[in-house]
Amino acid sequence: MGEPNTVDQPVVLIADPLPAETVAGLGPGFDVRHCVGADRAALLAAVPAADALIIRSATRVDREVIEAAPRLRIVARAGVGLDNVDTAAAAAAGVAVANAPESNTTSVAELVVGLIIASLRRIPAATASVRAGEWQRAAFGGTELAGKTVGILGFGRIGRLVARRLAAFDMRIECHDPYVSAEAAAEHGAHAVPLDELMRNADVLTVHLPRTPETVGIVGDAELRLAKPGLLVVNTSRGGIVDEAALALALKEQRIAGAALDVFEIEPPLGSPLVGLDTVLATPHIGAGTREAQLRAGQDAVRAVRAALSGGPGAAGR
Ligand code: NAD
Repeated sequence: MGEPNTVDQPVVLIADPLPAETVAGLGPGFDVRHCVGADRAALLAAVPAADALIIRSATRVDREVIEAAPRLRIVARAGVGLDNVDTAAAAAAGVAVANAPESNTTSVAELVVGLIIASLRRIPAATASVRAGEWQRAAFGGTELAGKTVGILGFGRIGRLVARRLAAFDMRIECHDPYVSAEAAAEHGAHAVPLDELMRNADVLTVHLPRTPETVGIVGDAELRLAKPGLLVVNTSRGGIVDEAALALALKEQRIAGAALDVFEIEPPLGSPLVGLDTVLATPHIGAGTREAQLRAGQDAVRAVRAALSGGPGAAGR
């Protein structure tokens, strides 16, 4: 068993590494403890004393952990998804669950802009060429964004930030999202169109959907056959939303020009037909990988813990 609780101070157990300044944001009045959440035995030993548990990706909070934590009032994940938390078990035990859905949207939107320009100006290949001692200026002809059309599939938080950034490059912005009205899209500078029209019109298609049964494979062979030959497909959302086999075929048959992918059906994408293609830029799921996004995620988690343990409005507890 872990250390006993002190009389008045709620125990906040931090099970994955967080920046020190984030932890300091908890302020006084908490007994802050640390454990290595990926070490199952250490987690199960520490969690009985915890009033709040802060995690990132490495700690799995399942029914066993929740049942081992009779004092627990909140699990806060300093990140976007809740894949590593059994939310049903938490709800059944009256434990609140919080995440940080807004924390990394700017980072992802900026990565999208970077991937688009890196692809259209062939920056990685040009860098490799110079590094190899070559100076082939004519070999790296590119494409401008100005006057082209970007199709944004999924017009939520990240889709809208991408729209704003690409508008500054004088692109025409189209979007498809059945849950967003044409008026709301227009307020963010985008023309709402059906999916087939988006596929026909886009010079760049960027995908910002959640992965659901409805969205898996939503960009498949039939959709890619509508595309312009110059299309660049960008996916920074979740693997499998763009069908990988259909995308690889479209690229090999030169029906589209390129793809830039931060996410894959299976990560790491060992054996994927996409990674070896020289028309594909691939990054290892780094959309949220900025200092600012990590800090923000930690701050959001700390804020949720403070609110839950303060007993104020919106606070959760048993
Ligand atoms: P969001 O929920 O704000 O927006 C998603 C949008 O998709 C919503 O507007 C919704 O109406 C729309 N949508 C749902 N089903 C649709 C469908 N069938 N057709 C068209 N639109 C549909 O989400 P967000 O914060 O913008 O995140 C978008 C994606 O980016 C998520 O999958 C998220 O997991 C992913 N993400 C990736 C990284 C990374 O590291 N690469 C980081 C953060 C988020």
